[in-house]
Amino acid sequence: MASEFDLIRRFFTRATPGAVLGVGDDAALLHVGSGMELAVSTDMLVSGTHFFPDTDPFSLGYKALAVNLSDMAAMAAQPRWATLALSLPEVDEIWLEKFSAGLFALADEHHVELIGGDTTRGPLNLCVTIMGEVPRGAALRRSGAQVGDDVWVSGVLGDAALALAHMQGHVQLTAKDIAACTSALHQPMPRVALGLALRGVAHCAIDISDGLLADLGHILECSNAGAEIVFAALPASSAMQLYLEQPLGKHCVLAGGDDYELCFTVSVAHRSEVEKIAVNLELRLTRIGTITAEKKCIVRAADGSVVNIEEFGYDHFR
Ligand code: ADP
Ligand code: MG
Repeated sequence: MASEFDLIRRFFTRATPGAVLGVGDDAALLHVGSGMELAVSTDMLVSGTHFFPDTDPFSLGYKALAVNLSDMAAMAAQPRWATLALSLPEVDEIWLEKFSAGLFALADEHHVELIGGDTTRGPLNLCVTIMGEVPRGAALRRSGAQVGDDVWVSGVLGDAALALAHMQGHVQLTAKDIAACTSALHQPMPRVALGLALRGVAHCAIDISDGLLADLGHILECSNAGAEIVFAALPASSAMQLYLEQPLGKHCVLAGGDDYELCFTVSVAHRSEVEKIAVNLELRLTRIGTITAEKKCIVRAADGSVVNIEEFGYDHFR
């Protein structure tokens, strides 16, 4: 049977020209460019909590890195290196082969190097720590929103939650819609290029992992502000259009987790710059509302009435 070290060598060791020292010693060694800050973030995926135990291992490897890249994007950091702490119930080489293929597929796309980790036996649990670089003072913090800023989001909202609702039998999607929504759930596209393009343009950013209202709520809290959001402006896929008038669709768009789109605020004066970024990146960027002085978040329906967001909000412990 393969030893722990054989597994690490076979599945998780690649050339790491961007590190001083990669996998194989007691610690990796990194050189951070002068004038740069190191951005560090960790995200853990737990079987049964964040994914079904039988999820395709390629998708899991991809997603374990994707959710971390998304945090770099939200800070406007250039992702550089990652470590992987892996707890596995058994050594399944086919599973590991697919898992590492998924992880490295996305790592290669973003030129991120796996420089270390830990491998142990235990319940299936994946923990990636990502490190990136950002010029001193250029990171987009949650605390930067200013009253009067436009609130923007990338992509479309709620498709991952809609896929989950389908898997749980709450809706019956068409075959075409299942494919699109499932890929949003299993292989979200971290908006790294957008994060970088927003340096010096946006006042703040966050990635949407727990749902728009929850994550925008973090911006509002950290920035001591409120927001008014226009429900009809929220970007939704063609699959989602069918459900927008129903509580399920409202829940998915306002509070569905796992989207990994960016929510960011930009002064009105810089609207056209955001529009240019959208064109350059061929990425849908939508203005969904405004930052307000009154410290609460209001969502307005098309007729001007206030949407009761409590009804559609997300509760972590439900
Ligand atoms: P130590 O006992 O000193 O912590 P380990 O035996 O845990 O070292 O790991 C040996 C080397 O392999 C280290 O460089 C570690 O970073 C790396 N490593 C362990 N598991 C992984 C993994 N899943 N992916 C990438 N590198 C790993
Ligand atoms: Mg170790």
